[in-house]
Amino acid sequence: MSEEKKIKRKKIEATTVMNKYMSDYFYELDSASKTGDKKIAWCTSVGPSELLLSLGFLVYYPENHGALLGTSRLATEVIPAANALGYSPDICSYLTADIGAYVQGVTPLSKAFEGIEGVPKPDVLIFNTNQCRDVKDWFAWYAKKLNVPFYGIHTQRNPTDIDDTIVPSIAKQIENLVEPLEKISGNKFDMEKLKKAVALSRECSELWKKVLETAASRPSPLTFFDGTIHMGPAVVLRGTQHAVDYYKILLKELEERVINHEGAVEDEQHRIYWDGMPVWGRLRPHSELFTSLKACVLASTYCNSWIFTDFDPEDPFTSMAKAYTELFIVRSDETKEKYMQRMIDLYKIDGIIFHDAKTCPNNSNNRYGMPQRLEQKIGIPSLTINGDLNDLRLISDEQTKTNIEAFIEQLEENKK
Ligand code: SF4
Repeated sequence: MSEEKKIKRKKIEATTVMNKYMSDYFYELDSASKTGDKKIAWCTSVGPSELLLSLGFLVYYPENHGALLGTSRLATEVIPAANALGYSPDICSYLTADIGAYVQGVTPLSKAFEGIEGVPKPDVLIFNTNQCRDVKDWFAWYAKKLNVPFYGIHTQRNPTDIDDTIVPSIAKQIENLVEPLEKISGNKFDMEKLKKAVALSRECSELWKKVLETAASRPSPLTFFDGTIHMGPAVVLRGTQHAVDYYKILLKELEERVINHEGAVEDEQHRIYWDGMPVWGRLRPHSELFTSLKACVLASTYCNSWIFTDFDPEDPFTSMAKAYTELFIVRSDETKEKYMQRMIDLYKIDGIIFHDAKTCPNNSNNRYGMPQRLEQKIGIPSLTINGDLNDLRLISDEQTKTNIEAFIEQLEENKK
């Protein structure tokens, strides 16, 4: 029997329910785009979705589309079309893949969902620079191309403390969006609706957190690679009842696995933390590689980025400002290191993989000495792999495999 055939990846049964919710989501957007019966807002992945939902918008996330371009491996083909418009191959490959796909008139949505021919047309574009500047440049291109208004929130980057020197100004920027969004949506702002959306986002976050924390069990019932797929509802459906319903189902299944000591990786021997973005076009091979080495990549900064425990329905604007600024990606290295120390402790981690994604410095935390500082502080070894989230031309599969195999061997030696 070949090595490949021996690798079994455990299926998560709840996936069928998730696929249904995601399909409903895309068909609703497609229908609104075709009929104009509902307004559509494009929003950055950690933008103020709750405000948009409260005003009756359907919310579409171009970064999610960027990830779909990655998983479908279309990204590498379409990126050069954006490069030809002057968007460098060194900047965000979500941006270049998404714009490249638009100018070439292709989308992975067409293949996944029969009848959908393109991305939904926006009525407004809303960004938050909390994660990077690229999202603003990205939306600016569409604003001009499609002649659609765009507004945003400018968040301070790299703070250590999230306090009164920062939060009120961001809360005010979110509040200032109400007036133009009322005009575009044709709906009057309703505080009760906003409170409801914030409450649902909070509930979704709490459940998603519990889902991810099941991985603290030994063996872990889920992997990081599962997490990157199952975070879909937390990204695009937060603020809705569907996301809450879905995570209740997923959590139940994973808790049953924990009770039955069913690991996601057979005979789990090594517990790995993944820092940085996934390589979307290599999720399956990476998952299989680690499984074959009896190593479970079980926790990550990336999947945890959609946990917003600061949402407070009683104080929606301030709590949204806080939640969307407390994110890992926004913070100083000092804060990030403290956070990772807690994660490494909670998940009983043996080793860390840092993914240095060439086109996303914002999600690559290895570049200013963090792996070395962490190893000195907590004695956990790490490996940096060079790659990218979407652009497969920036990846050497052979080198990645050799380096990961050597790293797991090192972890084995450390245990003797
Ligand atoms: S954080 Fe990175 S991957 Fe995400 S939009 Fe910004 S540059 Fe792109």
